[in-house]
Amino acid sequence: MKGLKDITHEMKSSFKLYCVIGDPINHSLSPLMHNSAFKFLKINSTYISYRIPKKELKSGIETLRDINISGFNVTLPHKIAIMKYLDQLDESAIRSGAVNTVQNLGGKFMGYNTDVYGFIQPLHKRKINLMNMNILILGAGGAAYAIVTSLSYEKGISEVTILNRSQDRGLDLVKHGLNLGLNCKFQKLSDLSNLTLKYDLIVNASSIGLKNEVSPISTKYIEKDSIVYEIVYRPIYTNLVLNAKKVNARIIYGYEMLVEQGAKAFEIWTGSKAPIKTMKQSLLGVFGEPK
Ligand code: NDP
Repeated sequence: MKGLKDITHEMKSSFKLYCVIGDPINHSLSPLMHNSAFKFLKINSTYISYRIPKKELKSGIETLRDINISGFNVTLPHKIAIMKYLDQLDESAIRSGAVNTVQNLGGKFMGYNTDVYGFIQPLHKRKINLMNMNILILGAGGAAYAIVTSLSYEKGISEVTILNRSQDRGLDLVKHGLNLGLNCKFQKLSDLSNLTLKYDLIVNASSIGLKNEVSPISTKYIEKDSIVYEIVYRPIYTNLVLNAKKVNARIIYGYEMLVEQGAKAFEIWTGSKAPIKTMKQSLLGVFGEPK
């Protein structure tokens, strides 16, 4: 029979630690989501936030190696800079040029980009076919790179317009999309009123909305049969979401992508199917899904 000592030893040896690194990091919802999944599946692991300032990434990664971290997520401002400290990259990371998930494989750090998967899942779950669609993406930061990469796996998209405040970043993303075979073009945000095309899918991949800002995508750019995909997840009801509601457009919420990218990371780390319902509930609490 096992004694208390054996059980304690077993618990210690099977215990795994995960974290999310970034700066700032205390707003992250990932610990809540992953810990609820560990608890639900009775997996002996914990997930914490670890603030690593921009200039301390190298030593921060060394610390994670020293403590033999089992895996971690990566958020602003490290998604690109982290790549040079990793031992291997999977296709999603190479193709998107950014990493948001790292797995420790026997001491070797392997990078993935689960945002690429997380973005497309809510569209696939709704059986939305992107064939012949004109797509508008607001933003050209790290998230927009993952989104453009994700779209490059889809067949028959007609055109992707990148709408961004700064021209340089916007044009770089257009180049990235063209390299992946997407028909991309750039539109400066200050010239938004020049947009004449009807967009089937409108994605906010910028940080506009995080601080309750008014979205530049007013109701006049949204059709009743448009799909509006807001990737900002807090607040849930951004100004863009409210605009979409006003014209009765279909809405995909930021938390949906958050849950899907987290679920994919969870599956990479644990090899277990992620309890998506539990992870979603941990984010939405007692109020449930928005209608
Ligand atoms: P970045 O900082 O890399 O990029 C921010 C983008 O927003 C840039 O294109 C920037 O334009 C634009 N932007 C910021 N403020 C303004 C403004 N006031 N007016 C016009 N444009 C502005 O951030 P990320 O790409 O990593 O993240 C963007 C958002 O996506 C964040 O809110 C993040 O929380 C969310 N996100 C959600 C995920 C999910 O799972 N739901 C996953 C990842 C991110 P410019 O280039 O001109 O500076």
